[in-house]
Amino acid sequence: MASTQRQTAANMPDYDAARASFSWEQARAQLSGLPGGGLNIAYEAVDRHAQGPLADTVALRFIRRSGERLELTYAQLLDESERFAGVLRDLGVDRGERVFSLMGRLPELYASALGTLRHGAVFCPLFSAFGPDPVEQRLRLGDARVLVTTPPLYVRKVAHRRERLLGLEHVLLVGDEQEIERITDVEDLRRLMASARRSASIADTRPEEMALLHFTSGTTGTPKGAVHVHEAVVAHHATGALALDLHPQDVFWCTADPGWVTGTSYGIVAPLTHGVCSIVDEADFQVDRWYEILQRERVTVWYTAPTAIRMLMRAGEEVAGEYDLSDLRFVASVGEPLNPEAVEWGRKAFGMPIHDNWWQTETGGIMIANYRSMEVKPGSMGRPLPGIEAAVARRHSKGHPVLARDGTLELVDVGTESGELVLRPGWPSMFRDSLGEQARYRACFRGGWYLTGDLVRRDDEGYFWFVGRGDDVIKSAGHLIGPFEVESALLEHPSVAEAGVIGKPDEIAGELVKAFVSLVPGQTADEELRRELLAFARRRLGSSVAPREIEIVAAVPRNRSGKIMRRLLKARELGLPEGDISTLEPES
Ligand code: ATP
Ligand code: MG
Repeated sequence: MASTQRQTAANMPDYDAARASFSWEQARAQLSGLPGGGLNIAYEAVDRHAQGPLADTVALRFIRRSGERLELTYAQLLDESERFAGVLRDLGVDRGERVFSLMGRLPELYASALGTLRHGAVFCPLFSAFGPDPVEQRLRLGDARVLVTTPPLYVRKVAHRRERLLGLEHVLLVGDEQEIERITDVEDLRRLMASARRSASIADTRPEEMALLHFTSGTTGTPKGAVHVHEAVVAHHATGALALDLHPQDVFWCTADPGWVTGTSYGIVAPLTHGVCSIVDEADFQVDRWYEILQRERVTVWYTAPTAIRMLMRAGEEVAGEYDLSDLRFVASVGEPLNPEAVEWGRKAFGMPIHDNWWQTETGGIMIANYRSMEVKPGSMGRPLPGIEAAVARRHSKGHPVLARDGTLELVDVGTESGELVLRPGWPSMFRDSLGEQARYRACFRGGWYLTGDLVRRDDEGYFWFVGRGDDVIKSAGHLIGPFEVESALLEHPSVAEAGVIGKPDEIAGELVKAFVSLVPGQTADEELRRELLAFARRRLGSSVAPREIEIVAAVPRNRSGKIMRRLLKARELGLPEGDISTLEPES
């Protein structure tokens, strides 16, 4: 039975009309702004709802590992964040100082994020599974003054390096009281919060004041620290409406961890600014658990990642059929290219296509998307958000076609030609700096455009198609080959679970296409299957694009945010050093 949710009207019924009339000033006017002027993310996310008719609406519903639920209304979330801000005030933390978190998706993580922003300090979430080295590097680079974490994570990852982290003055632990008492040089966050005088007044932050620090996923190299400001909330809110189609009664589930930008922009900020109920699952991906959450919590809008979709696909469409997902009305995906087969699978399993969208840590929010009211072309990432000007460009300069400093930009025509995706700077959630790397930051802008480093193609209807990351694109016998196209074709073979494609140096062709594939459970990796895959790819792609070599592997290496690390496949293939693997998912 179709639920009432499914019948809501799309926030953006007509893309072209919305594009023509959109302005960031109007988007800003959808928010309240601080009573005395200024703009603060926490005020837009919490205060204005907690002080109005949504005070008793559930803001965050946590599902503990055990399955137990814990809810915080907007009023309670305000209370928690006021207490956390009170703790920072009592500790003497100043505006602009960095508060880091290193913990699972516990309620205190969300109170810390919002309390830090409310205090006018800068919040930097780290993914809890990072090892001691990546944690130390980031704490150092970000000049952490406060760290919020749990006793086991602190003991395993930070305690033995504490003396080297001179700026890290306060470590606030969330966990068992007695366990915390046994650890030196730390404080018990829950105890501090219980006794803190709440900080009722919110910092009068300016829109351009630094609010968030996010490290990139480290897919192409050492992670960069992207600096974001309070004004980013204008883009978070606008994209929540236009790209995710959030409506007041929605139950929204963003499956990303706040340690990655998606889990903060869309796991904390955007849904709260819309006053919806947001689901937070403490546990990691499990097929049954995720379907159960979608069913039991009556999730209406779901924002997830291609890897998760492909894992559900592997479990079978019939499994989806065992659950009542009739409340679900919009499914979106980000982080990696979404292969056409996965988009179509959404139609069978959920009765709607999966809406791919594109953005990166640096852009702070969704830039290109498939919108609810627009026809989905499977394999395309959609069209630029109203307010965002996107183009396809080639970098030009004498001698060095790609990376010379004096390079000019040439925009590429619509059609089959691919080039770098470039965006016109000036949207609110654009990063304002790369921490400690000003020259690198400046090098991202040229000829009035921001260079994303991703290669795309744009068709005559203005849809963008992902070709590959600039670093991953393969040049073979005069052709530019995007790994995504080859991976998508391999993924259509029923035996293939995951595929990663690289260019392998070759004397004659320059590079030849090599694919690494992992198999679905129950398939045996033998020579016959390998040959079949080679032939299958050749039939789909033609001999100039199809992989010349295929290697069957136990798993394709991914990083913690689910992205295939092709540079690692390449380094291993060539016997070169592996480089920064701080975000690598351990291969089991
Ligand atoms: P690093 O910059 O450290 O190498 P990263 O680029 O993987 O890491 P993120 O900012 O988390 O770090 O990821 C953004 C990138 O993810 C994009 O630049 C793009 O390459 C890829 N991406 C995101 N969404 C999509 C999508 N819908 N289709 C294709 N690629 C996507
Ligand atoms: Mg990147």
